[in-house]
Amino acid sequence: MYNKDNIIIGPCSIESSDRFFKTAEQLSDLGFHNIRGGVWKPRTKPGGFEGFGELALDWINKYKRGNFHTKVFCEVANANQLFLAYQAGIDGIWIGARTTVDPFAVQEIADTLAMIDDPKLIVGIKNPVCPDLDLWDGAIQRVLKAGIPEENIIAMFRGFKVYKTSKYRNEPIWRIPLELRTRYPNIKMYIDPSHIAGDSKYVEEILDMAFNVYDYDGAIIECHCDPNNAWTDAKQQLTPSEAKEILDRVFQESKIATNNDSTELDMYREAVDEIDDTMLELLEARLDISKKIGEYKKANNLKPFQKDRWSTLLEKIIENGEKRGLDKEYIESIWEIIHEKSIEVQK
Ligand code: PEP
Ligand code: MN
Repeated sequence: MYNKDNIIIGPCSIESSDRFFKTAEQLSDLGFHNIRGGVWKPRTKPGGFEGFGELALDWINKYKRGNFHTKVFCEVANANQLFLAYQAGIDGIWIGARTTVDPFAVQEIADTLAMIDDPKLIVGIKNPVCPDLDLWDGAIQRVLKAGIPEENIIAMFRGFKVYKTSKYRNEPIWRIPLELRTRYPNIKMYIDPSHIAGDSKYVEEILDMAFNVYDYDGAIIECHCDPNNAWTDAKQQLTPSEAKEILDRVFQESKIATNNDSTELDMYREAVDEIDDTMLELLEARLDISKKIGEYKKANNLKPFQKDRWSTLLEKIIENGEKRGLDKEYIESIWEIIHEKSIEVQK
């Protein structure tokens, strides 16, 4: 569902009070009221713009004083940044992808959250840069243990840095956040299409996958009043009006409520080949049914991915598999691929 409450949008980094105010004003004129802005920027290499820090917090504070209904969010990477951002009146923070990989940093942020103890503060947790689900899960556990309620936590999927990426800057390995959602069904999942895409021209297709296929709860999007001249992540930022148009299109489509000469060895190999043929037949038959399910869902405004159905199906398969002596990880990884294909076909 898209009602602008679940869209956090704004510049990659806050570059001046003028530009920040201009972008935020344009966004708020379009109805957006959750603004993001980078205060401290984690840069892979030294020498780039690293954010204005406390100065940017002053601008946020000034902006908020003139716009009571606007909420502002920024990334924090340690206890001190969280403390300063909170003092400046920030409504929500997120732990960035480079911080989620570091349990020490996450723990000190969690300890500070416990100390601040504000029931209204929203805490986003991006996936770690590498495809390690347990680091993401661990960060969520630390934040939960700090007393932040599930409803205030947002898991943010921004793709993974892998050795060979496809056309995107960060690979959207969809089954990893899917697994996180089965572990934490009550924690909201937002998509960060900007850092996955790395290019504004792919933002729409990522949003479409997230909302119309995987039924995500919201998005955090990079948006700038003058993207071509942005100081960070220029290529992936949209103008406020582009963002609005893309979101309108994506949600308009979201009516869709996938011993060589040993005769003994030969005999086993023949048996395996026969089984493989049967498995292929079954996979084909399964996909044919998935297509029918896809048509039915489309006709009835249902989305291809349905969280509850997927969790019960997986649980049952694992239980039946274990009865046959097949281990959980094996079954789980096979069915994740089968299910992913089924969702793709349904889409
Ligand atoms: C950002 O949101 O600007 C950012 C640095 O993101 P990530 O932590 O996903 O790289
Ligand atoms: Mn960025």
